[in-house]
Amino acid sequence: MRFTPGEVILHRNVRRGRIAWVRPARVVSDDERGLLVWVARGTTVVNEAYHDGRFLRELPFIEWARGPHRPVVGEWAGPGVLKLMPPDAAHSVWWFRDDTDRFTAWYVNLEEPAVRWSDPGGATGVDMVDQDLDIVVRPDRTWEWKDEDEFTERLAHPGQYWVADEAAVRAEGERVVKLIEAGDFPFDGTWTDFHPDPAWPTPPLVPGWDRPPVIV
Ligand code: MG
Repeated sequence: MRFTPGEVILHRNVRRGRIAWVRPARVVSDDERGLLVWVARGTTVVNEAYHDGRFLRELPFIEWARGPHRPVVGEWAGPGVLKLMPPDAAHSVWWFRDDTDRFTAWYVNLEEPAVRWSDPGGATGVDMVDQDLDIVVRPDRTWEWKDEDEFTERLAHPGQYWVADEAAVRAEGERVVKLIEAGDFPFDGTWTDFHPDPAWPTPPLVPGWDRPPVIV
């Protein structure tokens, strides 16, 4: 399944069969380099919350895991983010920007490979499982692991966590580090000067955002 440049898709993160977050995103390109999407500032998004409204990072993991959970509609308040999902890769790469739209860092999000879907109601999207451990890469390509503490806390609860294979996540990270240190694509400057088409309206949260995930 290929997406069309300009099309709006639903980028979703799935935790144990539940929808963890939804970000409507504009397709920039979809080719042999992967699926490149733009999440614009002000986009209506959905995040899974604990029943009392707190988010995952606001309470101990084991308490969070008990649930119940509920979806909370919010807004992508920060600068827009460009995201590349390379074909069949267990990570995506995000280009972070500041308020003046200047590139500030790459963010390697370790995740199960994105699975594309098309709903009979008309919505299309990609589902993935965010594996929490990340890598932040500065413009000079120095880098560091991020959220290792959360990753470790959650791994201690394998019956509740959505990451089963810690070693596989770390190995994928190490593979990406080789690209970073070599300055290979996509860490070679590609798209650091990206600017969204000013004619693009902010994507709406379309019906179908809560359709059942295609992965568990
Ligand atoms: Mg992550």
